[in-house]
Amino acid sequence: MDAIELRGKPVSDNIYSEISHRVKKLSNKNIKPELAAILIGNNPASEIYVNTKRRMFSKMGCSSKIYHLNSNIDQNELLNLIKNLNNDTNVHGILLQLPIPEHFNSNEILRFINPSKDVDGFHPENLGYLLQGSPRFIPCTPYGCIEILKYYKINLKSKHVVIVGRSNIVGKPLMALLSQKFSYANATVTICHSYTTNLSRYTSQADILIAATGIPNLITKDMVKKDVVIIDVGINRIEDDSDKGYYITGDVNYKDILDKASAITPVPGGVGPMTIAMLLYNTVIAAEATII
Ligand code: NAP
Repeated sequence: MDAIELRGKPVSDNIYSEISHRVKKLSNKNIKPELAAILIGNNPASEIYVNTKRRMFSKMGCSSKIYHLNSNIDQNELLNLIKNLNNDTNVHGILLQLPIPEHFNSNEILRFINPSKDVDGFHPENLGYLLQGSPRFIPCTPYGCIEILKYYKINLKSKHVVIVGRSNIVGKPLMALLSQKFSYANATVTICHSYTTNLSRYTSQADILIAATGIPNLITKDMVKKDVVIIDVGINRIEDDSDKGYYITGDVNYKDILDKASAITPVPGGVGPMTIAMLLYNTVIAAEATII
């Protein structure tokens, strides 16, 4: 039997309905959640992401302003912009669209964002809260993965979760979250990366496998055990001769693994739709926190 598809759409629909309810309550208090999205340079993928976020914010009765900066802007000018956004009481969330050009120090910039407006959850203070087990903002993609697992009632308690990929935005926050004493977590977590030798040795022990590497089809059928649950975070654009000129695929060889796994997120349509939903959710939380 083929694996159950863990689609993101019904999960994100639930989140949007909760957001809508909370946005109405905020509106009664004359508060409209607002996101300031900082985009540097001309990365086509980043421009698409930021515009999609803006559309979704508007659809949900929230506001999203894009600050599109030239890639040769001086870092101090950028920090000044962030300082102004930090002090602007109409702005509840500040997002730095990653990746940014290499000559910037992204860690320094992220540290400059007011932690109570850091709706991406990348500020060290927020990552510290997360490690402590009392998160303020959960980074959006890991949060989306957790919401999918919760919605489809995939129990992680005492299970072995193997995460492939240790980025600050996906792998590491997931590792910190899923190993916590949270009702939805309590897993034993292994994290792999590009220096892991014999990756299959670890992936084949996973009850739940989370792939976040950006390497298309890295995970194949022979690398997993029967009935594994797979969360494929990867979004890889592969050029082809279709009208669009490309197709999107994940880090997992989906077709190959379908009859071995018990459940799997498709790409596209799995984790993808969740990230914006959780960003909106975090922005609403940030706006609610301004009510004394
Ligand atoms: P990243 O910063 O490039 O990190 C990739 C991670 O994968 C690194 O830790 C790297 O190891 C590891 N890795 C690379 N090759 C490997 C290999 N052969 N074996 C084992 N580990 C390997 O990427 P990211 O930002 O986390 O994103 C990962 C993927 O998720 C991308 O496809 C991205 O587009 C996608 N993504 C999707 C969403 C969404 O909304 N669904 C959001 C964010 C990202 P080292 O640390 O040793 O280099």
